[in-house]
Amino acid sequence: MSEEIKTNAAPAAAPAAARPERPARPFMKKRFESRRKVCKVCAEKIDNIDYKNFQFVKSFTMESGKILSRRITGTCAKHQRQITKAVKRDRNLAILPYSLPKK
Ligand SMILES: [Zn+2]
Repeated sequence: MSEEIKTNAAPAAAPAAARPERPARPFMKKRFESRRKVCKVCAEKIDNIDYKNFQFVKSFTMESGKILSRRITGTCAKHQRQITKAVKRDRNLAILPYSLPKK
């Protein structure tokens, strides 16, 4: 019985009588995480963000191509401005996409 709960990832062998797959309940785990976000750019001591370093710039964008907000990444205001500029520059140069379709 306990094993049945553990193998939630592979429901192929689950019997029909068992309760249907419940959605994951992440809110049950931990409501708050008191970890302080640190600016990635400040932490790595990069003085100015280069648009040519697109792999770094890309890490601040979503999979769909959107720029991630400061609220999510924890970058400081100064560096968020630089990141925004770099992403927009890369988009114009077709290094980064403006948007990608959702899967
Ligand atoms: Zn910073």
